Amino acid sequence: MKHLTEYSDPARIRALVAEIARISKRPARIMEVCGGQTHAILRHALDTLLPPHIQLLHGPGCPVCVTPSSFLDHAIAIARRPDTIVCTFGDLLRVPSDASGDLYAAKARGGDVRMISSPLQALEFAEKNPDKQIVHLAIGFETTAPANAMLAYLAKERGFSNISLLVSQFLVPPILRAICADPESAPDAFLAAGHVCAITGSDPYVALARELGRPIAITGFEPADILLGVLDVLRLFEAGQAEMINAYPRIVHPGGNPEALRLMDLVFETSDREWRGLGTVPMSGLSLRPAYAAFDAAQKFPADRCGIYKYSTVPSDCPAAQVLLGKMQPTDCPHFGTRCTPDHPLGAPMVSPEGPCAAFFLHRRVP
Ligand code: SF4
Repeated sequence: MKHLTEYSDPARIRALVAEIARISKRPARIMEVCGGQTHAILRHALDTLLPPHIQLLHGPGCPVCVTPSSFLDHAIAIARRPDTIVCTFGDLLRVPSDASGDLYAAKARGGDVRMISSPLQALEFAEKNPDKQIVHLAIGFETTAPANAMLAYLAKERGFSNISLLVSQFLVPPILRAICADPESAPDAFLAAGHVCAITGSDPYVALARELGRPIAITGFEPADILLGVLDVLRLFEAGQAEMINAYPRIVHPGGNPEALRLMDLVFETSDREWRGLGTVPMSGLSLRPAYAAFDAAQKFPADRCGIYKYSTVPSDCPAAQVLLGKMQPTDCPHFGTRCTPDHPLGAPMVSPEGPCAAFFLHRRVP
């Protein structure tokens, strides 16, 4: 409760806004990486408090937004099998695949798809349903990787043969490199996601800021956290310094969470990963190590042998990639609020509670 008021204190907000206006001399485009931060910015209208020459771009940090359609095609095909129970976090249920509908529809057609709040619930399902194969959809960034790794680790330790993970885990630094390699999308500075850095630590971002040639502030999620991150990167930007500042030290420490990192390293290895709409980015994801191959749903239920009716090959009408790369604001999409709404989404950014299009629809919709 303390932090709810402390980091939303109007006097503190006003002081930060005034300091940003005082020190900011030149136009700057700042990308927040995390969808949670996007929603906080829109919910509190923080972008409207900034000088007009400061633009906030909304990056690719919404996990279900970047989960590729081919992953959903595969998950839905597995869910249609009579011998499986598919476990997923709720925000993936309504994400449309271009070819196969969504997991809700698969459930409506008889698939056993269960919404979970922790990957470890898959262990209970496996115990109670020994005649079923339990498949957990392991998606997300460094924040979800430790819990997903824990599921694979415990499944192996306890000798389960009816648990597997369909993995689409992403890593933040490689996508920031890809964004900076594109002059159209490269921002002047980044706000890095505090919860990701709570796992990885702030140390890797010191070298990353120098490599990218842009300031990075590790930033929290309350209004004052976000404005402090903006102030910190603007100070560095105005000084021409490509450095990292940890603006979230109450949560993020230099070495991160060593236990979580150890578990992730035990279970996962880095691999190329497809990002929805953005293509395959080298070494931008995590896959199960060979020692965990028996728990890999992609190997247990190979795509070419699990009855995928159709793969998503046709580009969707949804220009989500342009939005997630900061090249287009959600409100500039021709379908925003018309063909595409949270009730009838054309793309994942309108579905997810972390999606930028949903954030604009909820908080910035023109009536
Ligand atoms: S408004 Fe809808 S169609 Fe447009 S980019 Fe967002 S999710 Fe896609």
